[in-house]
Amino acid sequence: MLGYSTKSLKSKPVGVSMKTPSILKEFLKAEAQSLGFVALGVADARPVPEEVREHYRHEVTTYGVGDMTYLLKNEDVRFDPARLLPGVKSIVVLAFNYYPPILQEKKVPQIAYFAYGKDYHRVLKDKLYILLEKLKHHCEEPFKARPFVDSAPLTERFWAREAGVGRLGRNGLIIVPHYGSFCFLSEILLTLHLPPDAPLIGSPCEGCSRCIKACPAHAILADGSFEATRCISYQTIERKDTDETDPKTPTHHIFGCDICQQVCPHNQNLSPHKEENFLLNERLRTMNKEDWENLTPEEFDQLFEASPLQRSGYKGILRNLKALEKKKQ
Ligand code: SF4
Ligand code: SF4
Repeated sequence: MLGYSTKSLKSKPVGVSMKTPSILKEFLKAEAQSLGFVALGVADARPVPEEVREHYRHEVTTYGVGDMTYLLKNEDVRFDPARLLPGVKSIVVLAFNYYPPILQEKKVPQIAYFAYGKDYHRVLKDKLYILLEKLKHHCEEPFKARPFVDSAPLTERFWAREAGVGRLGRNGLIIVPHYGSFCFLSEILLTLHLPPDAPLIGSPCEGCSRCIKACPAHAILADGSFEATRCISYQTIERKDTDETDPKTPTHHIFGCDICQQVCPHNQNLSPHKEENFLLNERLRTMNKEDWENLTPEEFDQLFEASPLQRSGYKGILRNLKALEKKKQ
């Protein structure tokens, strides 16, 4: 995987005419599309407004962060992109569809769609670097850039709305027009100034409350808050202790959860992704409880070497399997 780069990306001299910011942006959009991204928007970089900060602080202090203590750190960086890249002028937000063409069998322990294939952090970071290389060769002025895929404290959902990439649903996820919420978000901070897009404001929910009703963990609250530590994704992925999952959440999930997305009207009749790296691991499709229990740690590592499942690891998955058993009692 490629590492971060804050070094100046010096371009080769190309002719005498400077490309305008609009031309550069259109170039970036076309290249992003050819790499498989389904949306790209640009926001002017600036400190995050106070009301967004307040909402963030309210959620983490009211409902806690459990083992996600990183959410409490680096507040100065989180709310000011210039702390990540001095001189930043534009924030490019990109969305990548991961709605799968083939699903797991319904009766086997369920894995969230985002973890069907290879780890998206690696796959998308590599694509962002390819995109930056292309921009470097196309742009006549030197610039600095930093790409991120969940790899820095950025208020990602705020920037996605600012850049016109999507609206924030009550399930806490960005809903991208035509592609719904099964989209990975990533960002590029640039010292180049590109023309900003119009922010997407307003709620996409229009009186709907399907996700609130469907959430088995009651993690989505009617007032628009999200109690992250109740969420099955937290319980099955981020939680570090060895206790069984809260038995009040009777689902069939052993890694993540998609229920609040599956019920969302914006996620019906979606076009599946075409990214080979995100295709369902063939073993995962049919692996039942016994298959999981018979898997050795070595086999787990071999089978899921580049998978997001490594985040909870072999022991975490076994803990989650035991929790399924407890829920059945
Ligand atoms: S992912 Fe599952 S548990 Fe978490 S909020 Fe959505 S429905 Fe609830
Ligand atoms: S299910 Fe309904 S309320 Fe929830 S995010 Fe989708 S549109 Fe909004």
